[in-house]
Amino acid sequence: MAKVALVTGGTRGIGRAISETLKAKGFAVAANFAGNQQAADECAKELGIKCYKFDVADYDAVGAGLAEIEKDLGPVDVVVNNAGVTRDAPFHKMTREQWQQVMDIDLTSAFNVTRQVWEGMRERGWGRVINISSINGQKGQFGQANYSAAKAGLIGFSKALAQEGAKKGITVNTVCPGYIDTEMVQAVPEKVLEGIIATIPVGRLGKAEEIASMCAYLASDEAAFITGATMTVNGAQYIAS
Ligand code: NDP
Repeated sequence: MAKVALVTGGTRGIGRAISETLKAKGFAVAANFAGNQQAADECAKELGIKCYKFDVADYDAVGAGLAEIEKDLGPVDVVVNNAGVTRDAPFHKMTREQWQQVMDIDLTSAFNVTRQVWEGMRERGWGRVINISSINGQKGQFGQANYSAAKAGLIGFSKALAQEGAKKGITVNTVCPGYIDTEMVQAVPEKVLEGIIATIPVGRLGKAEEIASMCAYLASDEAAFITGATMTVNGAQYIAS
């Protein structure tokens, strides 16, 4: 039986590349999304992947979504907590809504999803949790106090959970992408983006597939001894110790 992988925000951008790569590696993939039905339909049609609409910020909605996935594919063995949004503003202008939305969708989502598959992984003695953080969670970013805090939170979450999962065959790791060529980054003003690319020693944006291949490795049996790790995939833009 194929192992089941859930990719949150798995229908667009980096998530879609992760869904595609995990499917190519033999996983039965469930791709979650928030509301962009067109992207989900394209993902389902082009990749042959089942897509599930639920809000990762809503614990009960996640539970209902997981029940549906389990009915269709079986219990979830691999979770990629990838769904995320930005609500940028300089801190002196940041609203409570901008703060809270990013906390809910980028950080609390990882609790909402992982908590509800964790006991099953423990019982089966195998699991993979991969949390998609960001270079900006490692180094901080002007205008992103909310996002940097949420993404840094995922790193601490992963390190703590790795210790709890270790004896049960569950690994928990964080992937920190640098700037990747997706809609999220294409939304950055051109001049700002040029400035960002100038700070990337490799001299270009990353590709979604380059994040996906790291996730596929972490999801594999070969990566069983890698847990609690923070994997940077950023073209040497920020070299964390
Ligand atoms: P995109 O904006 O391209 O895609 C986001 C995905 O998340 C979509 O599938 C979207 O669904 C889904 N999503 C958003 N909110 C929710 C929600 N509340 N519930 C369920 N699904 C939701 O993002 P990227 O591919 O650019 O980014 C993916 C991850 O990588 C994010 O966590 C991001 O922070 C991180 N990252 C991205 C970088 C980049 O350069 N792009 C750099 C570093 C980190 P829908 O289509 O329905 O809206």
